[in-house]
Amino acid sequence: MGKTSKDKRDVYYRLAKEEGWRARSAFKLLQIDDEFHIFEGVKNAVDLCAAPGSWSQVLTRKLHNKDENSSTKIVAVDLQAMAPLPGVIQIQGDITQLSTAEKIIQHFEGEKADLVVCDGAPDVTGLHDIDEYVQAQLLLAALNITTHVLKDGGIFVAKIFRGRDITLLYSQLRIFFPKVTVAKPMSSRNSSIEAFVVCQNYSPPSGYIPNMSNPLLDHQYCDWNEWEGPNRVIVPFLACGDLSAYDSDMSYPLDAGYKFRPPTQTPINPPYQEAVCIRKQDQLAKPEADQITKLESLELSDE
Ligand code: SAM
Repeated sequence: MGKTSKDKRDVYYRLAKEEGWRARSAFKLLQIDDEFHIFEGVKNAVDLCAAPGSWSQVLTRKLHNKDENSSTKIVAVDLQAMAPLPGVIQIQGDITQLSTAEKIIQHFEGEKADLVVCDGAPDVTGLHDIDEYVQAQLLLAALNITTHVLKDGGIFVAKIFRGRDITLLYSQLRIFFPKVTVAKPMSSRNSSIEAFVVCQNYSPPSGYIPNMSNPLLDHQYCDWNEWEGPNRVIVPFLACGDLSAYDSDMSYPLDAGYKFRPPTQTPINPPYQEAVCIRKQDQLAKPEADQITKLESLELSDE
């Protein structure tokens, strides 16, 4: 394959090099902004899963260029080291960890972010179900971290994989954002299941306390009974029928007038029928004498 073939095949790859972006993904964020104006009024921004840094470049060009003397802050986080970018504070860390959220907050010195973006992607296996699942877990981690650092009214933009269970993710996002839209920028290939959620007007449920409580992610025991108000999700559990009726876990003595009755309808050809017949004819195989001795010694050693 010639040096120029990728440039021919992928116009955004070529344009990224021409315009000085570190990755072609820069165009995705720019095209999302064309539609949603996500940088309007933004002073503090967080770029989750930022390496090699093209989204951080977009953030610097859009935010720092607006006002050279502004106190704009951009914090970029990635598992991998990222080459320095002027005007961007870098954290090498895992977005599934609370400590990463704490480090981000420290940089804003008591303020919060107006915008959180996340282009996170796990190493793709090629097995769609697994890739979608891991991507969804990464999105939930990004959402958890966002609830710690985003100010009310803020915007969250994140990569998703459009899979079978995507409606569940939308519902989870809708708990925190009244407006959730899925965007597919022109620079994102049609053949890719990738898309982006643009979540506007961050409004957590009243009394919500941010946490990193995805049990799949933080692996820490959590006593849900200690949670209260909107932080505690209780699935309704309803006992039905007359509560003074018989308890199905109790044994009750038989009345004096009790008479045995056969079942109203016995099963037709049940799978155990043959075994019942063989046992009735005393033809079930029995262990040999030496097998019994072996079994007995095994039982003893188990104790
Ligand atoms: N937006 C970036 C840009 O424009 O240059 C590209 C991001 S790249 C598609 C996905 C990144 O997600 C990788 O650099 C990877 O290291 C990062 N990532 C994956 N899982 C992560 C995690 N748990 N914590 C932090 N970063 C993660």
